[in-house]
Amino acid sequence: TEELLRKSEKLAVVGELAAGVAHEIRNPLTSIKGFLQFLKPHTDDKKYFDLMLSEIDRIESIINEFLLLAKPHTVKFTENDLSVLLTDIMTLMEPQMSLRNIQIELDIEPELPSIYCERNQLKQVFINIIKNAMEAMPEGGHIRIQCRRYGNEKIMLRFIDEGCGIPKERLSKLGEPFYTMKEKGTGLGLMVCYKIIENHKGKIEIESEEGKGTTVNILLPIQRS
Ligand code: ADP
Ligand code: MG
Repeated sequence: TEELLRKSEKLAVVGELAAGVAHEIRNPLTSIKGFLQFLKPHTDDKKYFDLMLSEIDRIESIINEFLLLAKPHTVKFTENDLSVLLTDIMTLMEPQMSLRNIQIELDIEPELPSIYCERNQLKQVFINIIKNAMEAMPEGGHIRIQCRRYGNEKIMLRFIDEGCGIPKERLSKLGEPFYTMKEKGTGLGLMVCYKIIENHKGKIEIESEEGKGTTVNILLPIQRS
């Protein structure tokens, strides 16, 4: 519990800072990017420009993940059907998935009640989790997404992959900002997930076994609380 508390305090602070800082950085960055693109055709050292542009892209993707956390005015909770949200995401990710030889199986209990949520935020959570599962299976593989009622008031979602897994000693670090094992990772995907699920009064729990796979469990309340 102390661990959990520490994590959620950290998240609250990060969330508040994120909005301000991200906005302040984004505008000057956009103008730098514009000037680089403008200058590139006039130089003999194009590779340095490409390098600078790709570094800026990286900064932009980090900022975008932060801004997702920090847009309280666009947050709108409504009734949503999880199977519709998940099917939308599958359509969105279909091209990447077939390219990477990933099969996703949707296993949704019939007549699942709709849940009260911020649909774009929840979609972002699902996308971040599915992306991690894909990245854990560079040779391709299966992802199973299960949705079940959990008692009368909750729904349990499970994202089950058969990827590389996560060593035990690293499990407690997940969700901390900038914690990544990937060369090109931001270490923000799961932090965003924790924050959003926390906003929904839900819970995330990650189980994993090295070499076997990872399961991300999300418990969400059906009604607004
Ligand atoms: P990023 O994907 O940018 O590294 P995340 O916050 O999404 O950042 O994930 C943090 C780390 O957690 C990843 O670098 C990876 O090591 C580990 N991880 C998350 N999901 C999985 C998964 N499904 N399988 C294996 N490792 C995972
Ligand atoms: Mg990720």
